[in-house]
Amino acid sequence: MNEFELIKNYFAKQTGKRNDVIESIGDDAALVTVPRDQMLAITTDTLVVNTHFLPSTSAYDIAYKSLAVNLSDLASMGAEAAWVTLALTLPTADETWIAQFCQGFFALANDHHVQLIGGDLTRGPLAITITAHGFVPTKKALLRSGAKPRDLIYVTGTLGDAGAALQFLQNKIALSENQQIYLLKRLHRPTPRLQIGLTIRDFAHAAIDISDGLAADLSHILQQSNVGATVYVDQLPLSQVLEQAVSQDVAIEFALTAGDDYELCFTVPPEKRLLVENELAKTACRFTCVGEITENKQFNLCYQDGKKYHATYLGYQHFE
Ligand code: ADP
Ligand code: MG
Repeated sequence: MNEFELIKNYFAKQTGKRNDVIESIGDDAALVTVPRDQMLAITTDTLVVNTHFLPSTSAYDIAYKSLAVNLSDLASMGAEAAWVTLALTLPTADETWIAQFCQGFFALANDHHVQLIGGDLTRGPLAITITAHGFVPTKKALLRSGAKPRDLIYVTGTLGDAGAALQFLQNKIALSENQQIYLLKRLHRPTPRLQIGLTIRDFAHAAIDISDGLAADLSHILQQSNVGATVYVDQLPLSQVLEQAVSQDVAIEFALTAGDDYELCFTVPPEKRLLVENELAKTACRFTCVGEITENKQFNLCYQDGKKYHATYLGYQHFE
């Protein structure tokens, strides 16, 4: 098959279509209509073999994750996802691989009513670049810069699972078969928290998605909002599987410093606590308050009894 046949037979075969797409795959550019009174949210992420995933990762998982990390960026802005483009660089035109890639890609895309509207196909070392587009009503977007002293800090889901899976793949920790199944799924198929983004955008002051570990990503909020934080490390949400797989200290370290969780971290003014928790309880997603924003610009990691968390685990001098 040549490039055009591959596009026609695989990439143009998505079943879920949107009625705001006027022209999609097949012309020189896609044409879409943007709803009135909404801003476009646009984000791009590239995943490169050996850097972002191991060569042994399945085509299904590579596609799923590439799309998920982009949708996660829209989620953290409080945006509704709409369209994506896909620039794919492949070493060979392996049809079985492409078929599995499209299966993973469209499974997640259809789940979120996201349409693939164009892209590019080139030959070279395996790399996937996705640009995702979504909408957010004017003034409703969640920024990293909006956190205020006394805000409560929340995270979705559980943290550290993907980090543990990566350590397993690098032969640094051992896992039972059941632990492998659960944790590898968390690494390869992260859940973009789009529904949560829409739920919190009426209440939250700031949000970010956790791609590099809570400590690093919350630091971005702190810097851009010009505030500090206290995070209670014994309040971090850990999955049962992770707690059984490693010691509590190691689990906390993964939660704080390992990447690839793609959960959301957001801050909420304390007077909206009940309101936001009520709304979040209606979703199936776990959420946990892990600390609060402070006027004092330090990032304080401690236990609930006030004891300091020993930053030596982190290898980061500035988290003391
Ligand atoms: P051009 O040379 O004009 O850039 P291409 O031959 O690259 O056109 O692509 C033809 C059409 O197929 C375009 O509409 C483009 O958006 C779409 N397309 C190319 N590669 C992909 C892909 N991997 N996924 C989805 N659409 C694609
Ligand atoms: Mg092109």
